[in-house]
Amino acid sequence: MPAMSKEQWLARAEELRIPHQAFIDGKAVDAASGATFDCISPIDGRLLAKVASCGAEDVERAVAAARRSFEAGVWSARPPVQRKKVLQRFADLMQQYREELALLETLDMGKPINDALKVDLPASVRCMSWTAEAIDKVYGEVAPTGPDELGLITREPLGVVGAIVPWNFPLLMASWKIAPALATGNSVILKPSEKSPLTALRIAELAMEAGIPAGVFNVLPGFGKEAGEPLALHMDVDGLVFTGSTGVGKHLLGCAARSNMKRAFMECGGKSPNIVFADAPNLKRAAYAAASGIFYNQGEVCTAASRLLVERSIQDEFVAMVVEAGRGMRPRHPLDPDAPTGAMVDDIQMQRVLGYIGKGSEQGARLRLGGEQVLSETGGYYIEPTIFDQVRPDMSIAAEEIFGPVLSVIAFDEEAEALKIANDSAYGLAAGVWTRDINRAHRMARKLRAGSIWVNYWDGGDMTAPFGGYKQSGNGRDKSLHAFEKYTELKATWINLAD
Ligand code: NAD
Repeated sequence: MPAMSKEQWLARAEELRIPHQAFIDGKAVDAASGATFDCISPIDGRLLAKVASCGAEDVERAVAAARRSFEAGVWSARPPVQRKKVLQRFADLMQQYREELALLETLDMGKPINDALKVDLPASVRCMSWTAEAIDKVYGEVAPTGPDELGLITREPLGVVGAIVPWNFPLLMASWKIAPALATGNSVILKPSEKSPLTALRIAELAMEAGIPAGVFNVLPGFGKEAGEPLALHMDVDGLVFTGSTGVGKHLLGCAARSNMKRAFMECGGKSPNIVFADAPNLKRAAYAAASGIFYNQGEVCTAASRLLVERSIQDEFVAMVVEAGRGMRPRHPLDPDAPTGAMVDDIQMQRVLGYIGKGSEQGARLRLGGEQVLSETGGYYIEPTIFDQVRPDMSIAAEEIFGPVLSVIAFDEEAEALKIANDSAYGLAAGVWTRDINRAHRMARKLRAGSIWVNYWDGGDMTAPFGGYKQSGNGRDKSLHAFEKYTELKATWINLAD
């Protein structure tokens, strides 16, 4: 199929049906209060839809439906092989409607259409199909007992699971939660971000079409305080999984503690160090990766390579190469298939990022690239790729998660110094090391306090390996068979075999 042009995507966008109702107990419904919120496209500030703004009453309805379906066993009691078939159909439908889903994602949160279509969609489909395929291959255990006992170790679904997700990869972050939650037999209530509710609403319809029974998968669009918090505090929700900021993640752990001690797993922010030694195998490739590691998805990535640590002896040469690479990543209209980057998710996020850029200059860092809002004539929210060097680790732009296209370059002289700067962070999501020295690569990989380590590239990984953070980047892991641990209780059953 030939790639579509910007004009063709714009024409598709004109005809697109925008889902706007919540999805509860197998039906698209308005919020009980009738309230809606404006879903604005960050591409041009246009109103896409008035979306149901759910609140406590809708959470009650969704939890009741989820509980009913769970207790009835319409999904939870089905043999894994049957759940697998339904989830594979779900993955196939996501694949079939990938252009529509990618378009919804781009219109809703501003990422380039090519990224939505070639990264977010395949990764979401793969997550669903990989997880479905795995579920009938996971066995229980038998304890090493003496002859007179049998100890069975089994996993059971938690029950009703609430999933609260962010806006940067809306469909993918939702898939990382709902695929293992559904595969293990739970009933799920998904609360997408108020900034990007559309793909979640569309896949609720696809889930029904795939054969997931009513009540097993519900979607509640709405704001954190109004729709998310009642879910987090609900006494009949057994598990709460979250991806988002560290501040909200901590708050939600408190909600779990204050209510019914529901199982609570948080995937939160990052300030990931990308460490380039003078003996990196290919400086040009490393420089391109350093730029795309921070500018991809407008820097709205939890594992953004936001701190570039460069060995001082190559600093000038290397930073010049990163600046050059960054120049080629300026934002364009997100429906342009050649756009390297697109729009920031909304005005709030754009202002936040511009605020950090201001602080960078005020605190004495040197601006090497960008720093400005651009394309304002479109009515959308765009920021240039921005690079500061001469950054000190104590500056705000080096210590805090900006979640935008802003790179902070810090120079170092010694391996131990690089390690200290890298680990001196509240976060621990990911880290990169570039070196030809295999001993150094392993030494660094062992000592870096982060959930994912990348040697001589950035952002490696697929469904086969767990993903998550050390320290205040979160607890629990998404992806791989380890994800099932979050969605199941472990049961020990002892049988006395003596006469
Ligand atoms: P956010 O914390 O503002 O919001 C995330 C979700 O939580 C949204 O659905 C929001 O409505 C909801 N929420 C907000 N306040 C709430 C409350 N009081 N009660 C219940 N729910 C509430 O985060 P964001 O701005 O949407 O996303 C950006 C953050 O997500 C960044 O910090 C980023 O690093 C992080 N993130 C982490 C990962 C990961 O896997 N570790 C992946 C992607 C994004």
